[in-house]
Amino acid sequence: MTNFTTLINEYDWDNIQSRIYAKTADDVILALQKDRRNIEDFMALVSPAAQAYLEPMAALSRKYTQQRFGNTIQFYIPLYLTNSCINHCVYCGFNHHNDIRRIILSDEQILREVEAIKKIGDFQHILLVTGENPREAGSDYIENAIRLVKPYFSSISIEVQPLKEAEYRQLTEAGLNAVYCYQETYHKARYKVYHPKGMKSKFDWRLDGFDRMGKAGVHKIGLGVLIGLEDWRTDVTFMALHLRYLQKMYWQTKYSISFPRMRPHEGEAFQANIIMTDRELAQLIFAFRIFDHDIEIALSTRENKAFRDHMTGLGITSLSAGSKTDPGGYAIYRNELEQFAVNDDRHPDEVLSSVKEQGYEVVWKDWDLSLQSTL
Ligand code: SF4
Repeated sequence: MTNFTTLINEYDWDNIQSRIYAKTADDVILALQKDRRNIEDFMALVSPAAQAYLEPMAALSRKYTQQRFGNTIQFYIPLYLTNSCINHCVYCGFNHHNDIRRIILSDEQILREVEAIKKIGDFQHILLVTGENPREAGSDYIENAIRLVKPYFSSISIEVQPLKEAEYRQLTEAGLNAVYCYQETYHKARYKVYHPKGMKSKFDWRLDGFDRMGKAGVHKIGLGVLIGLEDWRTDVTFMALHLRYLQKMYWQTKYSISFPRMRPHEGEAFQANIIMTDRELAQLIFAFRIFDHDIEIALSTRENKAFRDHMTGLGITSLSAGSKTDPGGYAIYRNELEQFAVNDDRHPDEVLSSVKEQGYEVVWKDWDLSLQSTL
């Protein structure tokens, strides 16, 4: 059986990159006129040539988003369970090198965090986040956390280390709804520059994790690249190829994407190789929505409030709000151990008001559950 770890070798990074940068205005216009777009159209939509077509792209993106998701935005909130990590990702404040206090929340602390979250909003979708420390915060720890928070949320997602297929099954049986995992970059030759040591240095193990999720029957899979490492246009094209492969192989699974831009963090040694402008991020969001009308596109509090407000209804379907990126950040430690500095620190009520002012309703449940209940 083919896995994406094999398939990716059929694509050459430099070749894909030069094809994207060779796209012309005619290619962009053709992509905009079609009903169904292929990967060549996607490359046109993310190419520099498409920068002159942001207005028609935004209009199409709004149309498809409204057709599929209506005038609604889904809210979710992350809960960091631990900042303990064995990896050495050069761009991250939880990097094993960094001399910070390491916390693994106990059962009692997790429940205190849940109580604090429930006080700031009617969140029904929670994202449990860990660093990567399989020995002390492995699948059994995560399963326990899922079971602890389950009575308080209708949808539970995780963003943790890549797991074995059997472990994904174990967590799904415990109540897991979705797994978000970022490949960070699909540039295999450069991957190790950013992930020099630890399990995360194993490019294939991480990439193969998406197939393991699919085989285990995970309900929703989230993909992402970290913007700031390699040429973003090429990286997201690889992600689009990956997405199409997964959709074909695991067609019953739902999919989600996001594109976090690098933020300041503890241990300032590594600075982003490339800076993506707001216009470019908007172009990317439009391109993905035009390419795939059904996919969930999430925008976290890494992005500033003006950008998040502006993008409401233009392709984005899910927003985090009120996020703390440190374990115990809602009730226990208060901004001591952040993974990265959030860029939109508004209270969820303020984000909600902004969304409403623009004529949109907030959905607190996860998309699949919300849409099911309205059918
Ligand atoms: S990005 Fe994740 S795996 Fe890498 S150092 Fe940070 S917490 Fe650990």
